[in-house]
Amino acid sequence: MKEIVSRYAPSPSGLLHIGNIATSLLTWLDCRKAGGKLILRMEDIDRDRCKSEYAFKIADDLQWLGIPYDKGWDENSPEFAQSSRTELYDEAFKLLFDKGLVYPCYCSRCQRLAASAPHPGEVSVDYGCKCRSLTDKERQTLEQSGRRPSWKVSVPNREISFTDGHYGKISENLAVSGDFIIRRSDGIYAYQLAVSVDDMEMGINRVVRGHDLLGSTAKQIWLINELGGTAPEYCHAPLLVTEDSRKMSKRYGDLSTEVLRNKYSPEELTGKIAFLLGLADSSAPISPCELLENFSWDKISKNDIEFKSSEW
Ligand code: GLU
Repeated sequence: MKEIVSRYAPSPSGLLHIGNIATSLLTWLDCRKAGGKLILRMEDIDRDRCKSEYAFKIADDLQWLGIPYDKGWDENSPEFAQSSRTELYDEAFKLLFDKGLVYPCYCSRCQRLAASAPHPGEVSVDYGCKCRSLTDKERQTLEQSGRRPSWKVSVPNREISFTDGHYGKISENLAVSGDFIIRRSDGIYAYQLAVSVDDMEMGINRVVRGHDLLGSTAKQIWLINELGGTAPEYCHAPLLVTEDSRKMSKRYGDLSTEVLRNKYSPEELTGKIAFLLGLADSSAPISPCELLENFSWDKISKNDIEFKSSEW
């Protein structure tokens, strides 16, 4: 039987919030239950938004919580941070370019966000972009006027089907959301390329992450296949949302580990989160290891899980 290799891939753009912790806990439980290896990868490709102090804090929070990783990012292993992996992205970009799949796009919309994983409502749909069919002459004219392009991949009109470990069979035609940016005009590689290259290159065969990234999965499966790799199995987890149905976000400073660590012991926090996720019958303190025996995805809702901040 193949060994499971899974990963945590936080973006150090802020402290972990309670939703990130819930997903990290599920990733750890899913991996340990299968006897797999867990890698910590820092997704810090967007230098403007990420800080190394957050990376240190995130690594420390995972240890504190009792969900350690087997290998990955630390001060002696910068190769597990996307900021150190540009050469790999260069190679992948060249491979796709040589296959004739990459073209320059001169539209400015969506550029800024392309480096980060899309949040709900930010899924880029390629409405109205004509850059795929520009002639060489039109491209030249745009270049001469000083426009620097971002780089998009042209996706085929193809249905990608996969079985998500929690949501079951999913089919998506790549042409529906259309071509997407793999490199911004400032040279920064986009989330979709970086994450695909990393999962492939690190031998990841199991990905657990939030449901908000389900819409990126078909793109990543296709990219990995185009790059000559085998896509991992994916298992998406429901999101914790506030009473007004807003997804937790580092951007809003939602209940962060800083606040939670001041208030709870690791077991108290794990107990409360496990109860919220449906993994425990009460919110009594419990350790992640103690949750392992009875862990099953069947206990977890497929809908977003509402969370009342007043109860924390
Ligand atoms: N770095 C992404 C985030 O923190 C996760 C990407 C992934 O798991 O594919 O939202």
